[in-house]
Amino acid sequence: MSDTLFTKIVNREIPADIVYEDDEVLAFRDIAPKAPVHVLFIPKRAIATLNDLGEADVLLIGKLILAATRWAKAQGFADKGYRLVSNCNRDGGQTVFHIHVHLLAGRMLEWPPG
Ligand code: 5GP
Repeated sequence: MSDTLFTKIVNREIPADIVYEDDEVLAFRDIAPKAPVHVLFIPKRAIATLNDLGEADVLLIGKLILAATRWAKAQGFADKGYRLVSNCNRDGGQTVFHIHVHLLAGRMLEWPPG
């Protein structure tokens, strides 16, 4: 299977503005930000969609969310607020098939999203 776009970012084959990294998670700024802060948290191990998650991924997903919330706290906007969102497949608006959590912050976010 060919590498996903995000695996290429993990492997430094494509440049990205990386803001966080540990053994299993990478976070980098979205190339087309939808808010003043728009960061993508991804597992380094490629999983195509949320539908492909299984029992074996429970810890990884926990680490992914925790990395995002810790980063939000470290950046100082956690108390003010932010949004984590993950799109799944066509109707969910997914365009990159390597699961990721969008962290959006820095402005009042509307609800519901479009
Ligand atoms: P999705 O639409 O799958 O939920 O989110 C994919 C996100 O990846 C989009 O917000 C898009 O702007 C971002 N994106 C697509 N290509 C690149 C890239 O090459 N670099 C970075 N940093 N973000 C990208």
